[in-house]
Amino acid sequence: MSFADLGLNPELISSIQRAEYTQPYPIQVEAIPLLLKGKDVLGLAPTGSGKTAAYILPILQQLLAKEAPNDRAIQVLVMVPTRELAVQVGEVAENFSRFLPRRIKSLAVFGGVSINPQMIKLGGTEILIATPGRLLDLIERNAVSIDRIKMLVIDEADKVLQMGFREEMDRILAQVPKKKQTVLFSATMDQEVEELIQKLLREPVKIQV
Ligand code: AMP
Repeated sequence: MSFADLGLNPELISSIQRAEYTQPYPIQVEAIPLLLKGKDVLGLAPTGSGKTAAYILPILQQLLAKEAPNDRAIQVLVMVPTRELAVQVGEVAENFSRFLPRRIKSLAVFGGVSINPQMIKLGGTEILIATPGRLLDLIERNAVSIDRIKMLVIDEADKVLQMGFREEMDRILAQVPKKKQTVLFSATMDQEVEELIQKLLREPVKIQV
């Protein structure tokens, strides 16, 4: 099984080769074709499984098919529990988009650092990777809007909830459009994660590695 077999186009394949990924990991084999088809996906996968590329590559391919937007509306929102994960996902997105025919702008925002530099960088961002508290802060300052996103990813959903971001998540999710593609990754399952899945995913395909 190669990345090309999964439905990724030559532009993406070239980026994947530059990253020296020779073969897709199992989670990528399962998730990429489903995400390219527009399905909602529930992924039970731990860190280290290759889950980041499993959702970033289909996101980039879908965005590449469109014109660069010229407003403050984010196209894709990736919610993560921590600053470390935000930075890491941002690096993966940047790494794969660097050599695409159209550079797709991603930005990681998180708390614990000053907000102004992040606000300045937001213009033209298509993929926003965010921790919940900082995202709400940016929304309240009208620095960003998430009401027209086409795709929502919640990465490490169990950790987002364990860290006490339930209320922030509810406030964020109240602002996203109903019609969108949603992906949720979690290493573990509990009642809170189940509730989030029930509320958010529509006829999800469940994958597990
Ligand atoms: P993740 O679970 O997304 O944090 O990825 C774990 C590590 O695996 C990261 O260092 C990735 O760069 C690497 N990785 C992901 N997919 C592949 C692949 N298909 N081939 C080689 N390395 C990969």
